[in-house]
This record gives sequence, structure tokens and C-alpha cells, in this order.
Amino acid sequence: MKAALYYRVSTPGQATEDKYSLRSQKEELTKYAASQGWTVVGEFQDVGSGGKLEKKGLNQLLDFVEKGNCEVVLCIEQDRLSRLDSLGWEFLKSTLRENQVKIAEPGFITDLDNEDDEFISDLKNLIARREKKKIVLKMMRGKRQRTREGKGWGKTFWEYNYDKATGTYTINENWSWVIPFIDKLYTEKKYSYTTIAQELNKISRTPTGKEWNSALVGIRLKSKAFHGVLEKNFKNEGAISADVPVYPPLRTIETYEKICKIRKEKFKRKKVVFHHFLRKVYFKCDECQRKLSIVHSKNSYATEGYFYLAHGRHIDCKVSINSIRFDQNITKAIKEILKSENMAKKYVKIDHTQKDLEDMKKQVKAERNNLKKFSEKKDLLLPLYLDGKFSKEQLDKQYTMLETQEEHHKKQVRSLEEKLHLIKSKMFNYDLITSYLSVAERFESLLTVEEQTEMISTLFPKGIVYEKEILLEGFLSEDVPIEIAIPIDPDPFNVKNKWERDPISKYNKIQEYMNEHPHLTQKQIAEALDIGPSSIVRLRNRFGEYKNYTKVINHDPKGKAEILKEYYLKNPDASLRKTARDTGIPSTTIRRIKRDYGL
Ligand SMILES: [Zn+2]
Repeated sequence: MKAALYYRVSTPGQATEDKYSLRSQKEELTKYAASQGWTVVGEFQDVGSGGKLEKKGLNQLLDFVEKGNCEVVLCIEQDRLSRLDSLGWEFLKSTLRENQVKIAEPGFITDLDNEDDEFISDLKNLIARREKKKIVLKMMRGKRQRTREGKGWGKTFWEYNYDKATGTYTINENWSWVIPFIDKLYTEKKYSYTTIAQELNKISRTPTGKEWNSALVGIRLKSKAFHGVLEKNFKNEGAISADVPVYPPLRTIETYEKICKIRKEKFKRKKVVFHHFLRKVYFKCDECQRKLSIVHSKNSYATEGYFYLAHGRHIDCKVSINSIRFDQNITKAIKEILKSENMAKKYVKIDHTQKDLEDMKKQVKAERNNLKKFSEKKDLLLPLYLDGKFSKEQLDKQYTMLETQEEHHKKQVRSLEEKLHLIKSKMFNYDLITSYLSVAERFESLLTVEEQTEMISTLFPKGIVYEKEILLEGFLSEDVPIEIAIPIDPDPFNVKNKWERDPISKYNKIQEYMNEHPHLTQKQIAEALDIGPSSIVRLRNRFGEYKNYTKVINHDPKGKAEILKEYYLKNPDASLRKTARDTGIPSTTIRRIKRDYGL
């Protein structure tokens, strides 16, 4: 087939900077035409909006088409040709149609002779999207190349100006002060990102009129741009940097290294992570059907804390289960299943009655029906769209949604059918289960937590959490699920749960404890009662001041500042340690507040 190639970028800048630069369009399309065995007989290009028909390249292309020189016009995306008003579009289409020229994009062809083809091409577009993604990825190579060559692209920091004509950066004198300013606060005064942002806000808002925040400060401290280096991060590939200096430096490399060192230390200090062997299993809450995950809580100051199966913050579902209620039961279950068939029956359903089989058959039938429904719905979409019942965007969305659901039901049917088959042929038996679990035999004794985590998440990628048991789901073969029911022990911290439900009794309990120990600090009380110190504050805010308690309850920093101010009025010469002892505020906090509030 004889192909004419058409490239367009909407702005001159795009011609060099965008992922759809003229050069990369040309490269991709030439390659694609070759892969299809097409002969390239002409190439046309435009720089400018796709909304106007009066374009030099496009006009040349139409002349070319009218002379019967080509059979297909190949462009990277139809919108390269077609962001025209309807009149212009009709004209373009009719010219192509009259000359029996098709429009092609990598992945599919639209035959304009066929009225529905254009619409169908929209549907095909959905399927071809994956292919397009690949092309975009390839085009990213252009960006990598630019980066290596030291040519900038993307957003420019406010501290620099970018000269499009020369492709070089100069210092923006209006904003260049920001870098030495934050460098000083960070390296000398050891301020946090947030405090630095506050200091910046005292001077000025950002060039866009917004407030400075910790993220903006962080980016500036992390970026290599300010000592001259152009470095960009690429997905899957990591950082690529230019071989030559690109930005006029606003900080020295020594300062940058100093910043890195401080950041590393801060990061290290924070990063004390406790791992739980179930952390890679995907848990679902039966109560609300949302995700549950293993979280670590340091409620108790005496130990490393506890792990909970719980929802993320801000989720109203209150399901939260301390892992000591099931941890041991998992190892116990695996051991017992491996010990004997009789014991295994406690956890896994091995024997299937005639009724079970009937039920499964019914399930298969129901799933098949579901599947049919989705396919029918999918077939209905196109006519509805053609009738103008909804937009292209809605069509895409609906189509993708239906496809996902269809895929899900297909999988269900497959897995049920295979399990049914296995049961019928008596293969789903104790031996199969033990061979699956045998790798876990010496689970706790031989493996590190890391190894346990890997193994359990491989054996059981999913779990459903019910009130009294956890159903761990694995796959005996590609499609045959196995479910092991792990019992959840009754809550040994029943008190805690009662407290959750009844905050006033928690408040009273704290008050009671304070009456007995009026000289303990808030932190000590929290430790003794195994609650978080902040709960003491929260309950106070809700139910009122605690009585007969002489120590200070931690407030917000502002409140603490007030307390310290008052305390220093009475004890102007008190040492840091004495202040801490008297007020119950930790000395590090005092130091911070003194600095932040200028006491
Ligand atoms: Zn839930």
C-alpha cells in the first residue's frame, strides 16, 4: 500500500519539547509503515493548531490525495488530522473518501467508505490503546536523549528563566534568594521543611501567589538543579543526568552534599520499621468490603507495640484486630493440616457432598449467566453511542468497566469449573493440599520474618477477614483455589475495645488513675494505662479538664507556649531540666517552642 505520512504539532515549542515532537512522529510512523510493508510516497507536516483547515502541509496532503498518489494517510493519532470544526472535518473526510484513501494510526485503520467504521474505530481505539502506550514509551526516549544532551524540558524552577530560543537557563534575580535562604535554615539552624516554609511565608508568597509548603521546600533541597546538574527521573530506569552543567549554580556542591547528609540522618532516625509476616497479603474486610492491612501501633511504650489488621485512617469501618489473636493460629493451622487428614478438616474443606457439588454447579451456571449479561451489555454500547445517547468519553469508560467485570467473571467460571472437575475426579484431596503446604512445614523455626513474608504471600495472596475467622486464599493450580480458615481468638484486650465504644469510661478511668497518682506525667499515665498520650488530650477536649491533676496536659504547641510563658514569668531563671520536670513538657519540645515562639 502507498502511504502518505502526516505529522503535526500544535505549538512551535512542541516541535522540540513535547513527546510528540515532529522528529519522533516521523521516526515512529516510518518504522510503523515499514513494519506493515507500506511504501512511503509522501510526507507532510504542520506546526499549528489542529482546528484550522488552512494549513500548508494539510493542503499539500489533500492535493496529493486528489492526484491519487496514495491509498492511506498515516498519522500518529487521528487528532493530528481531525481537530477541525465539523465543516472542515467533513471536507477533509469527503476528499479522502472520494479518493478511497483510508486514515491509519499505528494499530488500526479507518475506512471512511464504511459509515460505521469511524465509530467502530473508536472502539478499536480502546483495544489499541495498549499499543499506543508502547509508542508513547518509545517517544520518551526522545526525552531521555534531550536530558543526556543537557537540553532542558518540562517545568522550570522559579529560580531560573528558560530561554526557548537558545535552550539555556539563566538565574531569575527575583527569586534566586530562595535557595541560599532555605540552605542556611536547613544546614545551620536545622529547621524542618515545614518551619522553613513558614519562614518563607513571612517574606513572600510563591510567584504564583500561593503559600510555601514543605513539599516545595523539600523539592528545592533535594534537586541537583541548583548546583547546575540537569537530572530527570524516568520510570523503570531511574535518574538520567546530563553530561554537562546546565543551570547556573545557586548553591555549591559542598552545600548540596551537606544537605544530603542531614537528610539521610533524619531519614535514618525515623526509619525504625517493624515487619509482620502477613504484610504482603491482600486482606479484605467482610464488614465493609474494603481493604484491611497490617498496621503497626506503638500504643504500648513497654514493648515494640502491636500489629493490627485494620483500615487506613479516615475510614469509618471500625474493624481492627490485634494480630496476637491469630498469628499463632496460622502456624498452628499449617502444622496441624500437615499432621493428619482429620486435623486438616478443621481448617480446609476436603470432603464434598453431593449437595456441595450441586451448589457449585449452580454457581457455575450463575457465573455463566453473569458473563453473558456483560457481553450483551457490551454489544449494546455501540448502537447506544451511535444514537447519541452518550458521549465518547462515557462510552470508553463504560466499555472499560464492562471489560474488567467480564474478565472477573470469566476467571470465576474457569476456577469453579476446574475445581468441580478436580473434585469429581477425586484429585482435590488431602495429598494435593499437603503437597501445596509442605514448603511451609518448618515455617517459624527456619525462616526470617522477611522469608516468612515472602512465603506466606506466595501461598496465600489474599484473605478475607470475618468477625471470628480469617479465610486465607491460595491457589493449588493456576485456577483452583484453596481456602484455609484461621480462627481469630477472643479479644484479650476486651477493655480496650470497651473503651473504644465508650470513651467516657476511658476518661473516667484516666481521672481515677490521676487521683491516685497526681504526680505522674501525662506520658507515664499513658504508659500505665496502655493508651496513647494524645488520647488523654482528646478526651480532655471532649469531656473537660481533669480534676486534681497538677501536671500539665499536653496541648497544641500554642497552648504549650502559653503554659511556658506563664511558667517563666514565675520562674525566670529555671533551667531547662527543671522546666521540663515542673511542666511535664519534654525538654526537646521546650527548646522547639522557645525557638518557634521566641520565648
Ligand atoms: Zn471494614
